[in-house]
Amino acid sequence: MAMNILIVDDLAFMRMVLKDIVEKAGFRVIAMATDGEEAIQMYQDKRPDVVILDITMPKMDGITALKNILKIDPNARVIMCSALGQQRLIVEAIKIGAKDFIVKPFQPERIINSIKKVLDIA
Ligand SMILES: [Mg+2]
Repeated sequence: MAMNILIVDDLAFMRMVLKDIVEKAGFRVIAMATDGEEAIQMYQDKRPDVVILDITMPKMDGITALKNILKIDPNARVIMCSALGQQRLIVEAIKIGAKDFIVKPFQPERIINSIKKVLDIA
């Protein structure tokens, strides 16, 4: 059974890179969102197995989106995406309930391992 992934990033290029990596590993990208508000809406509608969630986005950032997704579903599996130098935000996200994090620039193997880890299929 293919696992469904929701990709959230404000940059089209990042969404494309992530989609490519995730699909090559056999996962299904069920939706993509460009900001936190969209991410919450899509989580509500699609109930993905895993969310890959950018931290820095316009309108609503990833930390706020994470809190709201966990209100919808306390068991949501969310992997945060951060740039270098955002350690404080990563720590905050993990405290709030993110299951893991990945750091840009993306390493495909690290992303796939993270997805498998949060799905408990590693
Ligand atoms: Mg961003």
